[in-house]
Amino acid sequence: MWKRAGGLLERNVSRSWVAPCRSVRMNSTEKEKVVILGTGWSSFRMVQSLSDKYKIVVVSPRNHFLFTPLLPSTTTGTLEFRSIVEPIRTSKIMDHVTYYQAHCTSFEPEKNLIHCESEYTGTFEVDYDKLVVGVGARNNTFGIEGVEENAHFLKELQDARSIRAHLLQNFEKAIIPTISKHERSRILSCVIVGGGPTGVEYAAELCDFLWNDLPRAYPQINAHEVKVTLLEAGPNILSAFDASMVKKALTSLRKRGVDIRTDSAVSKVNPESLELDSGYKIPYGTLVWSTGVGPHEVVSKSPFKTERGRIVTDEYLKVLGTENVFAFGDCASPESGLLPATAQVALQQGKYLARSLNRMQQNKELQEFKYHFLGNMAYIGGNKSLLESEYVNLSGWVSWIAWRAAYFTRLGSWVNKIQVPFDWTKTLIFGRDVTIF
Ligand SMILES: Cc1cc2nc3c(=O)[nH]c(=O)nc-3n(C[C@H](O)[C@H](O)[C@H](O)COP(=O)(O)OP(=O)(O)OC[C@H]3O[C@@H](n4cnc5c(N)ncnc54)[C@H](O)[C@@H]3O)c2cc1C
Repeated sequence: MWKRAGGLLERNVSRSWVAPCRSVRMNSTEKEKVVILGTGWSSFRMVQSLSDKYKIVVVSPRNHFLFTPLLPSTTTGTLEFRSIVEPIRTSKIMDHVTYYQAHCTSFEPEKNLIHCESEYTGTFEVDYDKLVVGVGARNNTFGIEGVEENAHFLKELQDARSIRAHLLQNFEKAIIPTISKHERSRILSCVIVGGGPTGVEYAAELCDFLWNDLPRAYPQINAHEVKVTLLEAGPNILSAFDASMVKKALTSLRKRGVDIRTDSAVSKVNPESLELDSGYKIPYGTLVWSTGVGPHEVVSKSPFKTERGRIVTDEYLKVLGTENVFAFGDCASPESGLLPATAQVALQQGKYLARSLNRMQQNKELQEFKYHFLGNMAYIGGNKSLLESEYVNLSGWVSWIAWRAAYFTRLGSWVNKIQVPFDWTKTLIFGRDVTIF
């Protein structure tokens, strides 16, 4: 075990460095135990670089890493579901990691203990020397009535699968001869709430399906009959992008038939229609809700200091008021300022924290975490993307190639690196698969 002499970390006068961790190993044969919550962008990246001089335990209900930027592509079959996941069990990190498929339900930092629940065996406890919280965030419904019950979210693989099945079922229903004209029009109405990158990319993928695959698979349905509506509560979609890029996205999406309505806040969702603040009602057959992320319940009820639903950390990602608890990704935010809830931030933090903990082992000095913005990207349909960085803004076909190349190079495993281009090629040649399962 480790004995802590005073604080685990102490800041140096220069503020950009901390003094080495003053931990003393009492029994040199026993490894210090690091418990990591989550298998998302931050946690998975951290585990990949964390030294095996630690005893590493990962607790997460999801037994795979999910490459979220390509999730919208699976909702219509551009990519297959298994192409964008990496199972934890067969990943090379498992050589030195113990994994429990369970979720953390509460924290007892004063006892260095977390409480967990497995859907197979019930509750259990895990102790730790260091705890790393990377549980991500939840879908934000803003407490609007009917969203949880009626809308599809787009966050996990099962969400994408249920959207795809629901959409295809509606196309099948629409061509049953007994269906009324009114009902056919409703079930062929697809509404997307949220004009951020995820909402826009889903709309783009849906239009690709409608224009490229619907005529082949469902010749009885005219693509113009399927109404795609994108609702955004704010004055513009893609608010993180430059105005000139937003204009390009609007033009491209509208050309492909998307009805984009800004300043349109939803006030209530019924099973077959939704209501706007203005009182206007929109019937829908498929409703996809993508309005950003809100606090995770385990974070909200944790003993840690939170701000805007995120655990507050110092510049070394150490949770305020603790000595051995760290937090990163969508569930945390450094006290110096809120970072965007993106994979970019989570990935950089995962890499940083692994390096910091490795340096602590060697009693080396630590550096503060610094986020490097690498750029924004969004697919806008019809083989066109937006790419915005410090140096260049690109749109159209060239940036679509860059968008695909960027994600291809970021894919973790060789299996994914083979499957994703294979799916892209298959879709290009044979079209999207319309099997319902
Ligand atoms: C459809 C979609 C597209 C996106 N596209 C982009 C993009 O193009 N670029 C970009 O930068 N970002 C993108 N993002 C955002 C990005 O995915 C998130 O910011 C990122 O996943 C955050 O990483 P994280 O590690 O904090 O959490 P996550 O990746 O969400 O991982 C959280 C992990 O914690 C686990 N967990 C949950 N509850 C518990 C619990 N109680 N105990 C233990 N484990 C738990 C989960 O199972 C999961 O493994 C996208 C997100 C979505 C949904």
